[in-house]
Amino acid sequence: MSRVARLALLCGILIGVSVQAPAQEQLPLFDAHMHYNVEAWAVIPAPKVIALWRKVGIRGVLATSRPNDGTLELMAQQAPDIQIVPFLRPYRVQPDRHDWFNSKGVEAYVEKELKRGIYRGIGEFHIFGADADAPYMVSIARLARERGLWLHAHSDEDAVERILRHAPGVKLIWAHTGMSTSMDKVEQMFAQYPNIVGELSYRGDLEENGTLNPRWKQLMLKYPDRFVVGTDTWVTPRWSEVENLAAFYRRMLSALPRDVAERIAYRNGMAMFGLKPAGDSQPK
Ligand SMILES: [Zn+2]
Repeated sequence: MSRVARLALLCGILIGVSVQAPAQEQLPLFDAHMHYNVEAWAVIPAPKVIALWRKVGIRGVLATSRPNDGTLELMAQQAPDIQIVPFLRPYRVQPDRHDWFNSKGVEAYVEKELKRGIYRGIGEFHIFGADADAPYMVSIARLARERGLWLHAHSDEDAVERILRHAPGVKLIWAHTGMSTSMDKVEQMFAQYPNIVGELSYRGDLEENGTLNPRWKQLMLKYPDRFVVGTDTWVTPRWSEVENLAAFYRRMLSALPRDVAERIAYRNGMAMFGLKPAGDSQPK
């Protein structure tokens, strides 16, 4: 240990503070995949969600909830330091995820929710393969493109490509970056469709031998503006993992140059929605 390091450690001990990296060096995060679903409301009330985000350094959130009242409740907290971007989730109840694209009830629900005029996107929704040719999926994709809304799709590559054929140029966040889609296919699709952004939750292959998988690193360096992170609190127990997930992303991103890590951690998410980047002390 160097003399300076010894001195710093001693100072830390003497004044009783942590000698870990100062808080301002911790990467802020933009959580681009979270759900505040009805089952979680009693377990972790909205003020506690805000407190958790604050503690963990999540400074912006793409919020989606089943039903959408969860998102409205989070926004009603009016936390000045946490920017919430609401997405319209087309689910009233859990089983809607299987047939929302064929449901008149969901259509009526979405139409009613759209009237709020607050949503920046639609999703996360689940759709796979040829189901993406359902007429309602086609009209949602075209509506999103017309209104400048994002889609947030949990889909295989086949469904993503069908959606993009229905509404070329529509902005699409690809939940889990396809989850099981091969890296070669992801790379090919990123080249072919510049309007896709990959969200990284549940990509267990991000980590290899305790650090960022070199194949992912190469793709992130090639497309530093095209990835965002997410916690995906799709079931209530997942809320107790948010802190660990934040630490995981910071650990993986530390293998990248700082500017790339910052983009993937929060700057991309903030830029997509025109928010002021959380980590900047001076507005740019
Ligand atoms: Zn999800």
